[in-house]
Amino acid sequence: MRKSISSLKLPHYKSTAACAAVRMPIPKEVLLPLNMHSGQAAEPVVQPGDHVYVGQLIAREEGRNSAPVHASVSGTVKAIEPYAVGRKTTAIRIESDGKMEKYPELSIPQPTNLDEFLQCVRQSGVVGLGGAAFPVWAKLAAAQKSHISTVLINGAECEPFITSDHRTMLECGDLIEKGIELLKQFMGSEEYILGIEKNKPDAIEQLTERFKDDPAVKVMPLSSVYPQGAKQVLLYNATGKVVGPGQRLASLGVIIINVTSLVKVAEYFATGMPLVERIVTVDGSAVKEPKNLIVPIGASVRDLVEACGGLKEEPGKILFGGPMMGKTVDTLDASILKATNAVVIMNRRDAERTAPSACIHCGRCVAVCPLGLNPTAFARAMELEDEDKRAAILQKEQVSLCMECGCCSYVCPAHRPLAENNSAARRFIRSWESAKKEGGK
Ligand code: SF4
Ligand code: SF4
Repeated sequence: MRKSISSLKLPHYKSTAACAAVRMPIPKEVLLPLNMHSGQAAEPVVQPGDHVYVGQLIAREEGRNSAPVHASVSGTVKAIEPYAVGRKTTAIRIESDGKMEKYPELSIPQPTNLDEFLQCVRQSGVVGLGGAAFPVWAKLAAAQKSHISTVLINGAECEPFITSDHRTMLECGDLIEKGIELLKQFMGSEEYILGIEKNKPDAIEQLTERFKDDPAVKVMPLSSVYPQGAKQVLLYNATGKVVGPGQRLASLGVIIINVTSLVKVAEYFATGMPLVERIVTVDGSAVKEPKNLIVPIGASVRDLVEACGGLKEEPGKILFGGPMMGKTVDTLDASILKATNAVVIMNRRDAERTAPSACIHCGRCVAVCPLGLNPTAFARAMELEDEDKRAAILQKEQVSLCMECGCCSYVCPAHRPLAENNSAARRFIRSWESAKKEGGK
């Protein structure tokens, strides 16, 4: 990887930055998919007809990198059914009784050592809430095998529209402090860097004041560029370190944790309530009243839209996340997942894409890539019929490093669909490599 990191200046469109998070009305029902994390889906432990309370375990983690799922409303389990938005899975449908009664057996965790702490983090159900959805307990468990000297807390919310981490930083300073105290106590790291972009001066100011007497915590203002929040970019800009291909961050003595993930872990240790709700930014040209909402996990996009006064125009595109890296969902019935930091709904005009024309070999896509990759080489490889030749080129060009940030597509004057192609190339190489591994057994 190059040692200077390319980036983009994007329009921010952060119209909800000053909108304090407000609790949305209790939804009539929630539908909780069991694969809201990067590993194997969780396994249901309830049945239709069961009464459940807020915070009650409804599906236990199963296998590596899995995470438990908890009821986000009190009420009755109506069904355990297939869910087909995004990766196919099973989901638990709960009809709300409108009471939001907390599970009476919730208790405040009292770990006395690292193993017990990790076990509690595991029970909290918290995953990477900036989008990656990797279970936090698994990240901490893997990291503690090396000495982690630096914890990098990611407050760089670089995508247009999204302000949920920003609001969390403004509204949950106590929990950020508690989260850092927990990591100090159990992980023993020496340095805590809160990386925040300069377009959030209020958060920088508040957190600098809060930690002014703690030499272990440094609030670091960062340039407001995209993709400042990407692991490799944040690492370099905050510490000067570079993670090489295939290298684990922990081997550099660093872990990165999203600021909202840290807050949710701290909330579990403060209250005993696992991850059942989060702040979601609802914005975009089709939304009447953009807001930051406190949302029970599993509420539908439709419920969020109603809480924002409805739509003012026909939706052209619904995104979970921002316009650069967000995932398109095709229905207002989609459920809010643990890692859904924003729902951006564009009108038809904004969703329209300019038709691509032939590549003019200008090299802008290569020059802008923060990782120094060559998306035109990926595109040429994907045109090859011979899958082994295609795979050889993609491996040589290190397609697996691509973080699908979309910078290459954004700058392409020919409007080539480079990001989609990169994504297809990454899917291809994953299945080609696993087929080779299976064949070699
Ligand atoms: S999407 Fe991949 S290839 Fe394109 S700029 Fe981002 S990291 Fe580079
Ligand atoms: S930016 Fe677009 S036109 Fe320029 S080299 Fe890349 S793909 Fe071709």
